[in-house]
Amino acid sequence: MIKNPVPWPNGARCAVTFTWDLDADSLLHLVYPNDGDTKICSNSMFRYGPLIAVERIIEVCAELGIKHSFFVPGWVAEQYPEAVKMIIDAGHEVGHHGYIHEFPNEMTADKEEYWTRRGFDSLVDITGIAPRGWRAPWYKFSKSSLDIILKLGFTYDCSLMGDDVPHIIRCAAGDMIELPGNWQLDDWPHFVHNNDMDYMMTIKSPDEAKACYMAEFYAMWEYGGHWLNCFHPFCSGQVSRMIMVKEMMEEMQAKGDVWFATGEEVTNHVNKLIADGSYTPRVDELPYYNGRLPAFDES
Ligand SMILES: [Zn+2]
Repeated sequence: MIKNPVPWPNGARCAVTFTWDLDADSLLHLVYPNDGDTKICSNSMFRYGPLIAVERIIEVCAELGIKHSFFVPGWVAEQYPEAVKMIIDAGHEVGHHGYIHEFPNEMTADKEEYWTRRGFDSLVDITGIAPRGWRAPWYKFSKSSLDIILKLGFTYDCSLMGDDVPHIIRCAAGDMIELPGNWQLDDWPHFVHNNDMDYMMTIKSPDEAKACYMAEFYAMWEYGGHWLNCFHPFCSGQVSRMIMVKEMMEEMQAKGDVWFATGEEVTNHVNKLIADGSYTPRVDELPYYNGRLPAFDES
């Protein structure tokens, strides 16, 4: 089913990377720059992530001995430095997720570079470590994103959805490893219900969402893929959902032959295989299109 599976370390059947986007209330202020402060209930909902959930996630990970990757907007790191320090001190990875959760593909290249650098500088200030992984806020990867993150020394992106396994994304400025995800492994479609964000999903039980997440896991295990999710502490860090996240990790461990790794570890592994010639990833050249399709101008 998967044409070009990656040879995983120690003969593992698949790789698993748990990722969390610690957005906190950044998106609320971005969407409501003038009156985000008046939306107190929504603020409280998002602040639950850094103030309540992060510590819980870290405790569960410590119990099971699994490291996760957290993607953090620079503004969130400035606003909630304790949460970010807790993540780093526990040995998890901190990646970059914009500055104020801006929309990269709705701004000029210069503006995008400004906000990306600003987020980068904040993370370096607070963690002391240059982030290596990037996820575009809202998955809104732009035509300039790859150029910018190559310039800043990132080694991988995980904003796109074009494969089941890590591969290369290429632009004129160079190559980067892409760790693809998908919407079924995001928790917003399963759980998030908030009228200020105009996102009103029918809320699923943890078991229903878990069935979807684990179907992806068993498929990746069977065919050598990479399971990479995108959860949010304010959402899946709530108690009932954390019980489910813990059960998932336990079931994956019990299944056996699974390589649990951060995004950075998967990237380093794939780069090593490329360097020693034992794996040739698929290459996706970006951007896919430039402007209107010519077909629209022919009629
Ligand atoms: Zn986000």
